[in-house]
Amino acid sequence: MSELSDLYQELILDHNRSPRNRGKVEDADGSAQGYNPLCGDQISVSLKMDGDRIEAVKFEGSGCAISTASASLMTEALKGKTRVEATELFEKFHRLLTEDGSGVKLGPGMGKLAVFSGVCQYPARVKCATLAWHTVKAAIENEEGQVTTE
Ligand code: ZN
Repeated sequence: MSELSDLYQELILDHNRSPRNRGKVEDADGSAQGYNPLCGDQISVSLKMDGDRIEAVKFEGSGCAISTASASLMTEALKGKTRVEATELFEKFHRLLTEDGSGVKLGPGMGKLAVFSGVCQYPARVKCATLAWHTVKAAIENEEGQVTTE
């Protein structure tokens, strides 16, 4: 894990130690489970909509520091966003992780998510970081079944 040490920035460590929005949303409008077999990360996401806006989003599960911190930061980023805004944010986040982060123009709303830009150097870790996002996408669309990164 030593080669990953530069990924474990303070913000990621902090969100891994004390994840935000952990638990289950009551009377959820959508939920989904995600699994990353490569690393063993498991997550379930539930959310409550207010019309087209995400009123609340929470997650449960167990996984590595990257997947937990990413889920935690994601729940903070998505609160109050519309479905379209959430999808746009996911696409930007995905580009940040899969392209050279410096070339990606971070629009408003990316904020703290930018700490994951270093992950693009570790392709296996990209799946850890995007698992929560794939899962929340399914929860928004309220798809049945389990999302997997494979
Ligand atoms: Zn992982």
